[in-house]
Amino acid sequence: MASVYIVEDDQQIRELLASALEHAGHIVSAEGTAMAALQGIVDTTPDIVVLDLGLPDLDGVDLLRMLRSVSDVPVVVATARDDDREIVRVLEAGADGYIVKPFSGVELDARLRALLRRVESVGPERLLVVGGIEIDLRARTVALDGEDVVLNRKEFDLLAHLAAKVGEVVTRQELFAEVWRQPYGGADKTIDVHLSWLRRKLGETAVEPRYLHTLRGVGVKFVDPT
Ligand code: CA
Repeated sequence: MASVYIVEDDQQIRELLASALEHAGHIVSAEGTAMAALQGIVDTTPDIVVLDLGLPDLDGVDLLRMLRSVSDVPVVVATARDDDREIVRVLEAGADGYIVKPFSGVELDARLRALLRRVESVGPERLLVVGGIEIDLRARTVALDGEDVVLNRKEFDLLAHLAAKVGEVVTRQELFAEVWRQPYGGADKTIDVHLSWLRRKLGETAVEPRYLHTLRGVGVKFVDPT
């Protein structure tokens, strides 16, 4: 059971999703406009947010950016379009996952539960150190050779997942399943985009990798270069 905040301007869809999620045992709040939702989310601190992108007063991605400046709440974006560019745009803005419309209350419930499980699954092992990289899993901070590295949420999740399996090849399928909680498929560019952001922040390139080694068509291996 979780407290879920739905942001959806279509009243019929909003009520359908709210009643499906309540039926699944969640506590549901809902709003139809971006500004009211932003205030509501800040006030009620829900466990998770479901965000429709097409809102009357503000683009959902702009709302997501504003929300990210004040809150780390997990956000699942409901998008009508299953295209790479759109998905990269919402992930870049700080979404934790997405669900393509139309979807059922049951599907949404399953997606929310998977995401919440991942958020809660950080164990007692809090510090991962590989070479010059230090990852604090609880504080969600990263330092490289003693200098702080600012990562977005997915870059952090990706790095933490790879660093926990240092020396092992992690497949793209596994990264989709474990980091994005999405089945492997259409949004193939997502991993490449995040890897390239991560590489840049770690001061390396695909041509001259230190920590992040890509095995074409197979996956990624995190290596201790020291
Ligand atoms: Ca809408």
